[in-house]
Amino acid sequence: MISKPTMKYQKLRLIKFGGEAGRKENGFGIIAGHKKKKGTEEVARLDQKLRDLQHRLRAGEETGARVRRKYKYSKLFRVEPGSKLNLRKINPEFTAGHKKKKAALKELEQLDQRLRALQFRLYAEGQQSLLICLQALDAAGKDGTIIHVSGAMNPQGTRVHSFKVPTREETAHDFLWRIGQRVPARGEVVIFNRSHYEDVLVVRVRGIVPKKVWKQRYQMINEFEKKLVANGTHVLKFFLHISPEEQLRRFKKRLDDPARHWKISESDYTEREFWDDYIEAYKEAVIRTSTKHAPWHVIPSNNKWFRNLAVTRIVVETLEAMNMNFPKPTVNIKNIRRKYHQVVAVDEKKKGRQPVAGETENGDGRQLVKAGKPQDAMVGAIALTEAIPANGEETILSQPLPPTASMPQRIANTA
Ligand code: ATP
Ligand code: MG
Repeated sequence: MISKPTMKYQKLRLIKFGGEAGRKENGFGIIAGHKKKKGTEEVARLDQKLRDLQHRLRAGEETGARVRRKYKYSKLFRVEPGSKLNLRKINPEFTAGHKKKKAALKELEQLDQRLRALQFRLYAEGQQSLLICLQALDAAGKDGTIIHVSGAMNPQGTRVHSFKVPTREETAHDFLWRIGQRVPARGEVVIFNRSHYEDVLVVRVRGIVPKKVWKQRYQMINEFEKKLVANGTHVLKFFLHISPEEQLRRFKKRLDDPARHWKISESDYTEREFWDDYIEAYKEAVIRTSTKHAPWHVIPSNNKWFRNLAVTRIVVETLEAMNMNFPKPTVNIKNIRRKYHQVVAVDEKKKGRQPVAGETENGDGRQLVKAGKPQDAMVGAIALTEAIPANGEETILSQPLPPTASMPQRIANTA
């Protein structure tokens, strides 16, 4: 290889490499001693493919199963900062190559499990947090998405907040006042059912404040979200995209089902008349506030199952990228393990039998930690610290597992 500082580059290129020919000759792109960073070409190729796919998605074209495996949904559905967006062209029926709902639901089940485990880790770590903002026109499925996503998580460490027409007190403050009070604390996942974006959407469409007021809010929102991110909150924003025809179908369903009558409001129909204005307002809001640190995703939502799949997958991908760690134990695990085995031995002695190594269950419903599985042992050990008996005391160990059951949604509405 030629050392870089020894020759003038202009000469070097002419004499030694002969431009393109030199590059081809060595086969892997050595130019004047600079080896191309490994994988750069592959990354560029994939980036280009991703851009093509995003383009096809924007153009409303369906894509194949390849998309499901290869591309992160957090990229596929993301609105790149500074890019153009034509919401009218995005096909709300798009399912990224998923043909069968049944198969997609299987995938969704697996995603839910991953989400559960990741949220447990986020909660345990207690350092970072996640804010999910859901925005959509009426009946686009904010509620359904919330039920699904929050249902997969432990209510401890998650919150949902619905933002309605501001109260008198809220209106007396700046528009971000009520939002700031509801953002997640460390370790939390918070879902906003509508959000600060209403203040550049309904407010604009219905002329609630003058243009010069809502215009400056984009920048205020960007600064606000930047501050959140700087404090360890990850921000995801979703626009659930449905067609006007699908909205009408859902309105009919509500009418046909007495159990859903309570959901019907006059405003569903009055706001529908402003559909185009809303789409225009969404477009500008999304373009102006989709940033690297707080990206927008446009989710084709005519199919409820695909909407849930896409949102859950993006949440999972985001949590996975947060590299959360369980906190270091506050006790000496070696000692605790010893104590644990002492407890087991005493317990079994009383029952008149020897514990078998690696035993997980002792026959009466009590669980022991399985040998050779560090993760179980760790979770077991954490639970044990709370269950350790005092000297001579007897204890029954409850099952020390992270939350597995589907938890009910918890919504705190504004008064
Ligand atoms: P659903 O899907 O059940 O109808 P929703 O979110 O539409 O849920 P509603 O109680 O029907 O809930 O409506 C809340 C209303 O509050 C929406 O019309 C929304 O535009 C309005 N709203 C929210 N924030 C603001 C705001 N900052 N300024 C004015 N209106 C707001
Ligand atoms: Mg409504």
